[in-house]
Amino acid sequence: MSFRLSARSRARLKGVHPSLIAVVEAAISRSTVDFMITEGLRTAERQAALVAAGASRTLKSRHLTGHAVDVAALIDGQIRWDWPLYGRIAEAFKAAARERGVPIFWGGDWKTLRDGPHFELDRKAFP
Ligand SMILES: [Zn+2]
Repeated sequence: MSFRLSARSRARLKGVHPSLIAVVEAAISRSTVDFMITEGLRTAERQAALVAAGASRTLKSRHLTGHAVDVAALIDGQIRWDWPLYGRIAEAFKAAARERGVPIFWGGDWKTLRDGPHFELDRKAFP
């Protein structure tokens, strides 16, 4: 079983750091759960709106610089938010990142406000 990014997902990777795109590509080909990209690069206006709505806690999001992506799990082409699916997608991202020597963080590993759909490049390696 091997999944591929849709044209829409690829379009949403526009402006995202090439190292993170490479990890996404490697992750989708090895993931046991299909996923789509819901967001990559984000404008300051959109970030401010997300913070105002309580959907984000920072105005310094890694999305603003193209260092982060959000995914949505797909089962038979339909979006699912069930937590276990994101752990499996994260396994694929982590393995792909390790393989390519690209350090990343998964929002699901954060201690507070866990963010299962979120992946970003390590600030230390990619300021
Ligand atoms: Zn995010």
